[in-house]
Amino acid sequence: MVNSILTVDLDALVRNYRALQELSSNETGAVVKADGYGLGLGRVARSLAKAGARQFFVATASEGAELRRELGDGPSISLFAGHMAGDSDMINDLSLTPMINSIEQLQRHLQALPKAPFGVQLDTGMNRLGMEPAEWSALRDIVLPQNPTLLMSHLACADAPDHAMNAQQLQSFREMTDDTGIPRSLSATGGILLGADYHFDVTRPGIGLYGGLPYADALPVAYLELPVIQVREVAERESVGYGNAYIAEQPRRVATLSAGYADGLIRAMSGKARTFYGQTECPVLGRVSMDSISVDITRLSDTPASLTLLGRQQSVDTLADAAGTIGYEILTSLGARYTRRYSGG
Ligand SMILES: *Cc1c(COP(=O)(O)O)cnc(C)c1O
Repeated sequence: MVNSILTVDLDALVRNYRALQELSSNETGAVVKADGYGLGLGRVARSLAKAGARQFFVATASEGAELRRELGDGPSISLFAGHMAGDSDMINDLSLTPMINSIEQLQRHLQALPKAPFGVQLDTGMNRLGMEPAEWSALRDIVLPQNPTLLMSHLACADAPDHAMNAQQLQSFREMTDDTGIPRSLSATGGILLGADYHFDVTRPGIGLYGGLPYADALPVAYLELPVIQVREVAERESVGYGNAYIAEQPRRVATLSAGYADGLIRAMSGKARTFYGQTECPVLGRVSMDSISVDITRLSDTPASLTLLGRQQSVDTLADAAGTIGYEILTSLGARYTRRYSGG
């Protein structure tokens, strides 16, 4: 099987980091969960560390362990999932910092690792992770004397700047943390764009580093080139692919490309997504298969060696729109089969 090539532009990643740093009033951290949003944890994290990032965030302890191996000692690695049962050794041995989400996690942490650093995640309305205001009121006098590294929360609607939820969560965060003197973090990519009131001591951009909305000025970081396996002529009224979902109304030249839903080209792209040869659009015909897609190359005068799915012609968000999803899901779905190439960095 021919390998499709996912090129990650590490210079663009670093430029996005620097641009978000310019926008942030204080320190700019980096979120590298889910294998660096699908682009490869090690290369992504090392480039960001070289660019000056000192605070990294991942979801789980096992992600944190892998990241510590990549970064070595020095940068802080915070875990959004907090201190889960069974993770104490990993947290201790690899100097990971759990963001404690509940009284249960607090007890676990103080019992297992009474001297190990931790932060606290507060729920300001999203109802996903973190202590609620009442829980925090009851626990803060126990927690604050232990000098937590960070008090953090997360915005539910930061991609919609005019949403009333943003100001509500900001106010709730202030009420819970204003008088603590502990470093604070509220904003991911979307929150950075809401302005300085939302920045506090450290920001936590993820998607904006990798070239996705809501950071509209982001440079693209992921480039995906799909080799042509085979080209055929399809006559009028013949079908293409599973379920005969595409039927040619006129004769078509059809190329079969080497990537499918097992590579993150989700089936919702069937009949909707476009590939490109230079500036010429070559639409996906019929259903996405596990290892391949079929595209219409009738308009091309030559037979290309490969077509572009992600690049200057099409961003992760444009492709996401075609499939009814978001850039985050497109990036984190990119599978293990691609040959990953890194440029710059
Ligand atoms: C994923 C995540 C981030 C990064 O969000 P982006 O929208 O990708 O910038 C920040 N904080 C938390 C708690 C997250 O879960």
